[in-house]
Amino acid sequence: MNSAEFRTHAHKLVDWMADYLESVETYPVRSQLQPGHVIRQLPDTPPEEGEGFEKIFEDFNSIILPGMTHWQHPSFFAYFNANSSPPSVLAEMLTATLGAQCMSWATSPAAAELEERMMQWLGRMIGIPPGYSGVIQDTGSISNLCAILTAREVHTRYAVNQRGFWDEKRLTAYCSTETHSSIEKGIGIAGLGRENLRKVSVDEKFAMNPRALESAIQRDISADNKPFLVIATLGTTGSTAIDPLKEIGEIASRYGLWLHVDAALAGSALVLPELRWMIDGIERVDSFFFNPHKWLFTNFDCSAYFVKDPDSLVHTFSILPEYLKTQEGQAVKNYRDWGIQLGRRFRALKLWFVIRTYGVTGLQQWIRKHIDIAHSVVRRIEASPDFELLAPVPLQTICFRYRPEHITDKETLNRVNAQLLEDLNNTGKIYMSHTKLNDVCTLRLVTGQTQLQQRHADEAWELIQEHARALGKRADS
Ligand code: PLP
Repeated sequence: MNSAEFRTHAHKLVDWMADYLESVETYPVRSQLQPGHVIRQLPDTPPEEGEGFEKIFEDFNSIILPGMTHWQHPSFFAYFNANSSPPSVLAEMLTATLGAQCMSWATSPAAAELEERMMQWLGRMIGIPPGYSGVIQDTGSISNLCAILTAREVHTRYAVNQRGFWDEKRLTAYCSTETHSSIEKGIGIAGLGRENLRKVSVDEKFAMNPRALESAIQRDISADNKPFLVIATLGTTGSTAIDPLKEIGEIASRYGLWLHVDAALAGSALVLPELRWMIDGIERVDSFFFNPHKWLFTNFDCSAYFVKDPDSLVHTFSILPEYLKTQEGQAVKNYRDWGIQLGRRFRALKLWFVIRTYGVTGLQQWIRKHIDIAHSVVRRIEASPDFELLAPVPLQTICFRYRPEHITDKETLNRVNAQLLEDLNNTGKIYMSHTKLNDVCTLRLVTGQTQLQQRHADEAWELIQEHARALGKRADS
């Protein structure tokens, strides 16, 4: 593809992108394809000769697009949103065009210095105290893994990295039963043994119970184990429960444990001063992350990781073979030493575009609007005798179920709600997901999509009621 062809195709694609974002509502939210449909249309072998762009793009439209679930659809209410925005997309185009690999300061000084500044901006925006240092990781799972590995190294005086596990004592970590699965995965990857992760019970709001945490730590100390890490979550994946950071921090300090905060979703909402109560106690936190790729209008992937003592992070990850040595040495930040991957995408650029385009006030208004929309749905659920709210709604995730008076059996209710979810998602009009809270099949409706307006939530609520009542009648007959 020569430059003239690139220019022509690029213009065409930008038009397509703008049309797509304008008309995304006309697509079924969740792809309605059956398994195998896409792969059957793809040749078994790669083409021997190059193909024309027109043909490739035609196949994109006819084969790929129907197999996409439209995460930027305003009626995407599933999981946690991975919202984006036009300035973020534009920055990603530049990032792809520059094609830089930003492992060291020297391999792109602007990328390193913009990343440093963006992490300072984000820290200010969400109330991280001065003195913390930041780095952009790819995902929340990797941010969690970085924290686990750093805590492991600090507690073993960097011996595990060097000598492997030599100590007979078990290192034990603590999180709640509602903590995201990436913590258990990370504990396994870090060689600590999943059975050494204690899942502490939660209260009626699904937040970690500090008394249960302290008892679990004391039990481990009595058993001659070595507690080393506590993970608090702000905005659990199931129901957005907020663990009580202050009390957890006091316990972590008392026993000398590393305190890590997973604020994957809720971190974005900390741009709102009225929600800063969630980080009451932040000064005791050793590491903290949130994902701007969830709720800060920044394309996936972008995970903002803060650490109180950056030396511990760098000490855990840095390794310097001859071919990576550069002249600047310690005078600059080489972010390859601040995490797991060596090669790094230029992620700071999209943050810069997003924050400058909307400003802090614009981002605050947007997030407030999402929370207001969530509360409008909550009011309707509360006013409907045949629906039930299953958890508090501090942010933009509503956990509820259909519970008509005439169905009382727990298993039948679970079955009816699972069927309701499937029926709704099969319409292609909305997309929701589910979880289990106290063994109850729970429908989750997340109002965090960039293009979401009140009318989309209103229409979703109408659709939910219509399908629920049709199901209720069928369960009757
Ligand atoms: N932590 C929490 C609370 C999450 O909800 C998620 C994902 O939804 C993660 C961590 C993992 O984030 P990522 O998908 O960026 O790996």
